[in-house]
Amino acid sequence: MSTIKVQGLVLNHINVGEADRILTLLTKESGKIKVYARGCRRQKSRMISSCEVFSVSNFVLYMGTNLYYINSCDLRESFYELRKDLLSLSYAAYFTELADTVTYENMDCKNIFLLLAKTLFYLSKQKIPIGILTCAYQIKLMSLSGYRPLLKKCANCGKDDKFTKFNIELGGVICDNCALNIETIKMNSKTLEFYSGLLFSPLSRLNTIKVDNTIYMEADRILSEFVQMHIGKKFKSMVFINTVKDLGTVK
Ligand SMILES: [Zn+2]
Repeated sequence: MSTIKVQGLVLNHINVGEADRILTLLTKESGKIKVYARGCRRQKSRMISSCEVFSVSNFVLYMGTNLYYINSCDLRESFYELRKDLLSLSYAAYFTELADTVTYENMDCKNIFLLLAKTLFYLSKQKIPIGILTCAYQIKLMSLSGYRPLLKKCANCGKDDKFTKFNIELGGVICDNCALNIETIKMNSKTLEFYSGLLFSPLSRLNTIKVDNTIYMEADRILSEFVQMHIGKKFKSMVFINTVKDLGTVK
């Protein structure tokens, strides 16, 4: 029986029968794969923690007829703290849903795997303001998926300029000249600086990024629209986040 070794993060799962599960794993080595976890829902199963959403484990897998099956697994990180806070849990669900949407089988997902795992780590430790972490994750993920917003040259004519306008569909800043013929939204130059800071800083340095609330609000709004336009779907988990915020149960 030939086996492969992967490090994988559980993006989601469906329960099968009384005790089994099919996991969708984002792996560092083999892209996104479906894995059958036999008996993982039994209370005494050694796989139980590795088969929960968000968990990162080292897996040894073998190929069955259509799916991989787990031979053995070793839990590396469960991000247990995420489950203690409803807002963190909802953001973690959004981050994994977004990663699931932009990845596919046989794609090289190593950098997306690392970004998601690190983002869940910082989210679980609550050391970076959640809004800044979310903007950083979104812009980095879009960038890794081929949708890096154009921040330094006009997205229509390629000219360098001082930019104060953005076009969501073209995915970047628009110079004043092109803006005469293209619909744009206003963007503060500090929002651009904020985006560049997020794109080029590692997550561990996000705490050094200072942003005032008006700029953050603008950056968050434009980035959400940008993600929705280019990914082409509304995220159930984001709807839930907004409901949680509206309830005012968490700050
Ligand atoms: Zn232009």
